[in-house]
Parts: sequence; structure tokens; C-alpha cells
Amino acid sequence: MFYFWPTLRARDVRHPAFTSIFIVNFLLGWLLIPWVIALAWAYRHKKIVEPSPDEYVKCPDCRELVKADANICKHCRCKLVPQ
Ligand SMILES: [Zn+2]
Repeated sequence: MFYFWPTLRARDVRHPAFTSIFIVNFLLGWLLIPWVIALAWAYRHKKIVEPSPDEYVKCPDCRELVKADANICKHCRCKLVPQ
């Protein structure tokens, strides 16, 4: 399982280059240096945290998502009423 660490990490963070990382990991990983590259590649992508509907509301002015308890929109600086 340790051998597929880069692939598992890429899968966990839903890396956009998951297939490429898997191929490098699977075919070239035994060469060690490509394995280290695949691991670093997998860790370059931060896990995407999907905003939950409870925490975010749409700004009435610019329609961007802002935190529900925000006083000012971070995108357009308009005043908001915290919910
Ligand atoms: Zn706004």
C-alpha cells in the first residue's frame, strides 16, 4: 500500500491530474525518483472544501458566495446583513 501513497493521496484530494499521477506512480514508481515526483505532485493540490449551504449565502449585489455571518462582501465590499 505504501507504494501507492501518491495515487491514494491524489484520489483523496480529487486531484485534477489523478490519472497522470496514477500512471507515473504505477509505471515509473519503482524508479524511486518518479515516485517522489508523483508524491510531491499529489501534495501540491489542496483538498477542495465544498462550501456548505448553511455557512455561505450569495451576495445580493455580486452573487458571489460569502460567509453567512459576514458584515461586508469580500468580493464587492457591499454591506451585508448577517443571518
Ligand atoms: Zn458582493
